[in-house]
Amino acid sequence: MIDDQPSWTGAVTERLRCCVCGGSTDDSPDYVLVELTAPSADTRQWLGAHAGHLNEVLAEGFHVEVHLM
Ligand SMILES: [Zn+2]
Repeated sequence: MIDDQPSWTGAVTERLRCCVCGGSTDDSPDYVLVELTAPSADTRQWLGAHAGHLNEVLAEGFHVEVHLM
């Protein structure tokens, strides 16, 4: 069987739900993955989001764009 569907190859192999709206990101062309780290902890947190939703909650001066490669 040939899988010709576009696949996500980011650090997290599964798509995460949008951390803003809680909705599925399975078919979202503007899916983004956000990595959170803390200097004192050797661990990391991943958040998925729709770029459009993330932009609605980011502080002024921050903006996420999606470039399809
Ligand atoms: Zn969303």
